[in-house]
Amino acid sequence: MAKKYKGPAIGIDLGTTYSCVAVWQGQNNRAEIIHNDQGNRTTPSFVAFTDSQRLIGDAAKNQAASNPANTIFDAKRLIGRKYSDPVIQNDIQLWPFKVVAGKDDKPEIRVLYKGDEKCFCAEEISSMVLTKMREIAEKFLGSTVENAVVTVPAYFNDSQRKATKDAGAIAGLNVIRIINEPTAAALAYGLQKRANCVEERNIFIFDLGGGTFDVSVLKIKNNLFDVKATAGDTHLGGEDFDNRMVNHFVMEFKRKHDKDLSGNPRALRRLRSACERAKRTLSFDTDATIDIDALFEGIDFQSAITRAKFEQLNLDLFEKCMKTVESCLTDSKVNKSSVDDVVLVGGSSRIPKIQQMLQDFFMWKDLCLSINPDEAVAYGAAVQASLLCEDTENSLNLVLRDVTPLSLGMLVRGDVMSVVIPRNTQIPVKMMHNYFTVKDDQSNIFFRVYEGERLKATENNLLGSFNFSIPPAPRGHIPVKVCFSIDVDGILNVSAKEETGGNEKDITITSEKGRLTTLEIERMIQEAENFKKEDMKFMEKVNALNGLDDYLYNMRKVMKDDSVTSMLNSLDKMKINAAMIKGKRLIDDKQEQEAFVFVEFQRELESIFESAMEKINKSYSDED
Ligand code: AMP
Repeated sequence: MAKKYKGPAIGIDLGTTYSCVAVWQGQNNRAEIIHNDQGNRTTPSFVAFTDSQRLIGDAAKNQAASNPANTIFDAKRLIGRKYSDPVIQNDIQLWPFKVVAGKDDKPEIRVLYKGDEKCFCAEEISSMVLTKMREIAEKFLGSTVENAVVTVPAYFNDSQRKATKDAGAIAGLNVIRIINEPTAAALAYGLQKRANCVEERNIFIFDLGGGTFDVSVLKIKNNLFDVKATAGDTHLGGEDFDNRMVNHFVMEFKRKHDKDLSGNPRALRRLRSACERAKRTLSFDTDATIDIDALFEGIDFQSAITRAKFEQLNLDLFEKCMKTVESCLTDSKVNKSSVDDVVLVGGSSRIPKIQQMLQDFFMWKDLCLSINPDEAVAYGAAVQASLLCEDTENSLNLVLRDVTPLSLGMLVRGDVMSVVIPRNTQIPVKMMHNYFTVKDDQSNIFFRVYEGERLKATENNLLGSFNFSIPPAPRGHIPVKVCFSIDVDGILNVSAKEETGGNEKDITITSEKGRLTTLEIERMIQEAENFKKEDMKFMEKVNALNGLDDYLYNMRKVMKDDSVTSMLNSLDKMKINAAMIKGKRLIDDKQEQEAFVFVEFQRELESIFESAMEKINKSYSDED
């Protein structure tokens, strides 16, 4: 693998609910998962907007119940999708924040920030989470970080991958590679548990996170990580299990109190948090309780749920997971009895029923629970990042070969999907297909590029289209060679070429509706810079205010001590008391003030107070 980039480069697992960042530490020969400022190894993928500031991560999640309409999560569920997508329409019912249709049917998130309405696309919210992860890494490394490997669900389609890359660009990161989450987890597993494995092993990765589900089959041998097949659902995970529980309790509340809380964002947010906690409890206990004070219209809510009930509420979703497991194995042509290791990744893989179903499916094989399911993906991303960077100490010599998750092709006569690259083809890849005119003297061909597995092209996902002009000729006479190429990030490029009489034309699909344009990305980068400046200004003000408040607090303490005040002359006493009153007024009036006002006033206070104290000290030494 050619090393092209100057380090350090980090690995970021950009999760639906939590994100995680890691960096390869050559001297320790392992990747380090980096703690955030709260000491946590994963950071909530939450961004919040308040009257005074923007918050990202734990700080945003912690205030979610009191500011639900302006606390954004689940951006990964929105990214690369259209507003009219039924999946989005379904999610909107449960989100406490506002999502509306923007330009080209792109979802737009509306929030109130400092009293004004602001609109963001999912890429911008994800870029804020990426920025936070980058800052966490920079603090740990003590240097700036430009390059990052970002992971995406293996089953992310072309638009979702491109949108994730755009989010990286808005965050000012050079996304040197996009890798699939289960592949990253396999790298982590291979390195941590199967180092120097000389015999070929078939590894099955089961990755069920907060919002997405992926499975992959890999063969590992002699540092070669070969993905054989991948499958998944970009909209299935822990949040769906939470939703089922939320709906269950909304109905129970209605039955008990004859009131519908589903239209109240704050109540929903509080109920959802309680359900998520209960779900986690049910992974090690057989029942869990819910206890929320004044949940809705002042009514306290207490209830309980058993593990059996939770499983019953979600059984169809768990079964859906198992169907995907089966189809991935079929695609990989690896028999389930030949699978050597079943590796569990993602927080939701801790659910006992899922583990039991998997164990039954794999004929009571032991599941590998030994790698940390929350951190494995970031670990693998950091390994990949170090492999791509020239100045990281890395003795690893790994080769990673991934596959494309969805078939790619063209619409041909009769609305048929003509597949050019079948799913699970190893990437990077380039494949050609010749298309011919269907009418005499046809002067152009309108090409439409789709991805998906349906035979009817229009039931698949339209990626883009282009018109191709050709010289008039009898039907079927002029071949147009269409070339599909998928790069190492899994991103598609399509070009068409017609070679008649020496003419050559080349067309490349560069942007589809819904993807951000270069100009839009540039504008968002500028906005992100402005946000950063505003955040810094806010922190500067908070630090200045806290500094003044601490100083005043200490002054007040000293001024309550009679042994000190009795030594002060009346002019100094008056000056100090007046300054303390002014200080308190400034703090009460904090919204109106700038940081420098607090800093300058603190200096003034210090000078008044210290000169008075000096006089006291001097009078003591004179007495001596
Ligand atoms: P990830 O995207 O891998 O960070 O996974 C996050 C999801 O895992 C969230 O939906 C969590 O609620 C869920 N999760 C974390 N721990 C547990 C647990 N012990 N039992 C069930 N779900 C869990």
